[in-house]
Amino acid sequence: MNYEKLAELLFANITKTPADYEKEFPKRNLPDGAKVTRLGPSPTGFIHLGNLYGAFVDERLAHQSGGTFFLRIEDTDDKRFVEGAVETIITSLKFFDINFDEGAGMDGDTGSYGPYHQSRRAEIYQCFAKEMIKKGQAYPCFLTEEEIAEIRAKQEANKENPGIYGKWAKSRELTIEQIEENLKSGKPYVIRLKSQGDWACEPDKAKTISVEDAIRGTLTMPENTADVVILKANGIPTYHFAHVIDDHFMRTTHVVRGEEWLPSLPIHVELFNALGFELPIYCHTAQLMKIGEDGNKRKLSKRKDPELSLDYYRNEGYHPAAVREYLLTILNSNFEEWRIANPDAPIDEFEFTAEKMSNSGALFDLNKLNDICKDVLVKIPAGELCEFMKKWAKEFKPEILHLFEGNEAYIEKIFDLGRTGDKPRKDLIYAKQMFEFISYFFDDYFKIEDEYPQNVSQEDAKAVLSAYLETYNHQDDQSEWFGKIREIATNLGYAAKPKDYKKNPDMYKGHVGDVSTVIRIAVMGRSQSPDIWEIQQILGEERTRQRIAKML
Ligand code: GLU
Repeated sequence: MNYEKLAELLFANITKTPADYEKEFPKRNLPDGAKVTRLGPSPTGFIHLGNLYGAFVDERLAHQSGGTFFLRIEDTDDKRFVEGAVETIITSLKFFDINFDEGAGMDGDTGSYGPYHQSRRAEIYQCFAKEMIKKGQAYPCFLTEEEIAEIRAKQEANKENPGIYGKWAKSRELTIEQIEENLKSGKPYVIRLKSQGDWACEPDKAKTISVEDAIRGTLTMPENTADVVILKANGIPTYHFAHVIDDHFMRTTHVVRGEEWLPSLPIHVELFNALGFELPIYCHTAQLMKIGEDGNKRKLSKRKDPELSLDYYRNEGYHPAAVREYLLTILNSNFEEWRIANPDAPIDEFEFTAEKMSNSGALFDLNKLNDICKDVLVKIPAGELCEFMKKWAKEFKPEILHLFEGNEAYIEKIFDLGRTGDKPRKDLIYAKQMFEFISYFFDDYFKIEDEYPQNVSQEDAKAVLSAYLETYNHQDDQSEWFGKIREIATNLGYAAKPKDYKKNPDMYKGHVGDVSTVIRIAVMGRSQSPDIWEIQQILGEERTRQRIAKML
């Protein structure tokens, strides 16, 4: 077969050569050890936790090493393209402080290794398909869908491996005249790799390949034997081919991708070798799992788990710093230990490594995230939290924005309630919850949510509140104030100290705690809250008195 002639026949329009591309996209001029990583999402409009998880690995590996992190849009499947998807990807990741250095952008591409949309790289892929044809490493395949289905049925019946390979690859044997004939009659075709794998050998004697994965160590797998499609009938590459060409010419050093790509690794290795390209370092990340309703681990699902979508975190108002902190705990097994040793260090000082990543399913747990939020938020100054709330409210709850804007001093006092001292309160989690948590500070949202303790009669509750209102002095310090509550308690037959009540429960109706709960419900609407006296100081005298009077 005259492969040169075949290549010209199929790709007459391709005039550039591989050498041209090697020259156009030279090795990057980066310091030793600098890593080049990329995120390659499909523009489906749905960006999920898995994307963020992968992007975080990419970002850390690149930026920690003085390297480059770029965005490549994998849009070879135009059925899945959604308008605005690129913006969604960029803005969603930016929210979590994940920024690209180059690649697809909101106002076009930046960087000299583009285009960064696969749909705009047809010529490059075709140049290399042509090259492979020239070398007899690839061929046009004219099998129709029906023929392929027939082959599959036969393979199933004979219990043979599925796919087009060796003896099933009928188009391998076509002469150039037959190919010309097929082309003339307009028969559609794809370009397939002519795999050099030994398809005929016994499964247990199959040759293997070994790849060093930065997360998983040495991977040993059977070599590829399949004539996989590299260019589809429309001249657009498959993932396999695009990955190899793009990551070579974009000079990616580390390919971070989900473990669902592991089975196709032998295909990629064969393609890299056939093209004479150096293999990148693969980092196959573990699937994100959660404990399902039945107590078993399962993959996060788009349908069942709203927390899979990144929008979820923005809607709820999770603080990006907390999400980053949490992601690191599931990404690197030594992070938590580091955090204990370095409680106040900026997170970027942690040295992230692929080697410390789990390879057996990363467990995602919303409760754990919430716990981490509490730890992270307690360290964020109230002023910053207030700004964060404003930003969140502007986007997701504009009807409450006015409560924050122009009211910053009030809000800051609220957020700082009980946060000083050695045992600061850790009850702020995410914006939506924070608003719920402090909503009683705003008259429009104040409502009585809880009931008086059962041992306090309506009559006593009234008596407590009227005595409280009568003796209330906003200038009282905390101990004067509490002294008065004790007095009210004693006068009404409640123990001044819980321990007195515990010793002689028959002598009292209850204790001072019950009395303060009555007050708490009147002022805050809730039986649980930070310190009443401090809250009243923030609410101010007038509002405090009004609430008690209203309750009476
Ligand atoms: N477009 C592929 C995906 O979304 C990218 C995989 C890769 O990073 O190589 O799964």
